[in-house]
Amino acid sequence: MSSGSFNPFDMAQAQFDKVADYLELDSASRELLRNPLREYSFSIPVRMDDGAVKVFRGFRVQHNDSRGPCKGGIRFHPQETVDTVRALSMWMTWKCAVVDIPLGGGKGGVICDPHNLSAREQEQICRGWVRQLARNVGPVQDVPAPDVMTSAQHMLWMLDEYEHIHGGKYPGFITGKPLGSGGSLGRTEATGYGVVYTLREALKGMGIDPKDTCASVQGFGNVAQYAIRLYHELGGKVICVSSWDQNDQTSYAFKKADGVDVDALLGVTDRFGGIDKARVKDMGYEILDGDAWIEQDVDILIPAALENQITGDTVQKMSKRVKIVCEGANGPTTPAADKVLEERGVFNIPDFLANAGGVTCSYFEQVQCNMNYFWEHEEVMQKLDNKMTAAFHAVHNLAKKRKLYMRDAAYVIAIDRVAKACRDRGWA
Ligand code: GLU
Repeated sequence: MSSGSFNPFDMAQAQFDKVADYLELDSASRELLRNPLREYSFSIPVRMDDGAVKVFRGFRVQHNDSRGPCKGGIRFHPQETVDTVRALSMWMTWKCAVVDIPLGGGKGGVICDPHNLSAREQEQICRGWVRQLARNVGPVQDVPAPDVMTSAQHMLWMLDEYEHIHGGKYPGFITGKPLGSGGSLGRTEATGYGVVYTLREALKGMGIDPKDTCASVQGFGNVAQYAIRLYHELGGKVICVSSWDQNDQTSYAFKKADGVDVDALLGVTDRFGGIDKARVKDMGYEILDGDAWIEQDVDILIPAALENQITGDTVQKMSKRVKIVCEGANGPTTPAADKVLEERGVFNIPDFLANAGGVTCSYFEQVQCNMNYFWEHEEVMQKLDNKMTAAFHAVHNLAKKRKLYMRDAAYVIAIDRVAKACRDRGWA
């Protein structure tokens, strides 16, 4: 979240400006792309279980829709800010473009903490969010999805409200829906698996067998859980995971030198990915400060929590052994840290490439809903792997050819595609 002087939108604009300079982008395209096209900010009054009305603040930012309807998740978080949502909407534009799916970028949020809300209260927030935006979102305008602390259940409440308002069935309004209600097989694991598809390709390019590697992961939510599972299937070993502790309002890292056990940890994890520290003690894990995940003697770091985690400060604690930083989260690495990674020759798999598996599978969900015909799990995963692998190699080849840092190469491809769509439409 936006904390202290860190502003994720400044960071997203700085990343964009660097590549816009490199591409010698014209001034109209720059002006258009460094800001969102549209923003909505609104109140959501909710009658709470105790009878009192509480007003929550909601947002939707539509960064760009030149290549297709805006697309992106809705986050529930107590420290949500409009600048965070702006940055995330911009990253969604690049994410959809780099994997070449016909969608633009958007993001939404509500300032709230679902840890302290009943299911009924959360349902009212979801329905209220849709009521405020019912005419500004939809299958051909802007398509939401799950994100930090939102789930398939939240998506279904939102869909139900949208369909009530518009009087019809519109499964293409939202993705990440439950199976049986228009959801796609594979959507739950898509982001985490996609992260590891890109990691697998990076290791292949370096001539390293995943079996000879170990990793440390920040976060134990949906993305981290499935990334660890697939990385373990490839033979790698995650020796440390960190997670947020709601009781202590801080994070801890859990270390196990012979590899963490996802299933065992899931037995002591809440639905937001919070591991119960008290119960982990007896399971043979060392309990460390939250920041310790970055200090581990590993080959690979996978930040899969929130933005602003690998910073100019924390990057100094990173082991010299780290060869790859594979970004499961959105915006985990600041420009100051990027500089250090680039100088040290650490291979970066940038967020909007590494974690594009979620939105790619959302796109498959839309396609299946439009056909009203749903694919087998294997077919979804194969298509996902193909898309992610192709996108990784396009970025990697460009990075090699032009001697670019991977993040910059991914930006070159994404900005080029979006700027062209804008120019072709006469917007720039
Ligand atoms: N929230 C996910 C992301 O940041 C998925 C977005 C989507 O499926 O639209 O990429």
